[in-house]
Amino acid sequence: MGELAARIAAVKERIAAAAARSGREPEEIELIAVTKTVEVPRIREAIVAGITCLGENRVQELTAKYREIGQEVEWHLIGHLQTNKVKYIVDKVALVHSLDRLSLARELNKRALACERAVPVLVQVNIAEEESKFGLHQDEVLPFLKQIQSMDGLKVQGLMTIAPFTEEPETVRPVFRALSRLAGEIADLGLPGVEMRYLSMGMTNDFEVAIEEGANMVRIGSAIFGERS
Ligand SMILES: *Cc1c(COP(=O)(O)O)cnc(C)c1O
Repeated sequence: MGELAARIAAVKERIAAAAARSGREPEEIELIAVTKTVEVPRIREAIVAGITCLGENRVQELTAKYREIGQEVEWHLIGHLQTNKVKYIVDKVALVHSLDRLSLARELNKRALACERAVPVLVQVNIAEEESKFGLHQDEVLPFLKQIQSMDGLKVQGLMTIAPFTEEPETVRPVFRALSRLAGEIADLGLPGVEMRYLSMGMTNDFEVAIEEGANMVRIGSAIFGERS
């Protein structure tokens, strides 16, 4: 097995173990391989090793790689999305993880309807209320969903958060628990047009704790591709 395939296998084992601790099957957790700054040949190697979903945080990088790799994988936009760049990705992405404001919802909706699709989206929540991070505060999520639920060009599929960076993942467990609880409360309301299928939370430093708290989509970069320079 090559070095990259071995790293992927190791990550998948850790995902499976964390899933088991939360009473779930490994297949219930979707692995998004975060490929920002990773060159196409190495991405292709990861695809050969079984990666099926790629996460990019910049539109320009996503579209450049999309031109080379195309639809053989799912493309996930995981970073902040500028409204004027929506048109470049609306027909390419399987999921936008970073819907965080009404102006972006309106633009995504408009562009999606123009190409006769509904774009799957997650609402990004800034649970820890860090100044440096995008995302709605917890108490803004429900009013926001009510504003966007009738937009036919959007398919709300769940919530996403980025926990504060820490060497000690236990310290961010409450962040993941809070996002899980919020998703559960929203699901219980049964809002038409709003699904809570996905909880996108957990990165290299904290994905096991995120899974234990209910994540079913983890976004992992450096544990697969090594440290970014
Ligand atoms: C870079 C990035 C990740 C992956 O980070 P790692 O710590 O390398 O796993 C996950 N989510 C988002 C939004 C990112 O920008």
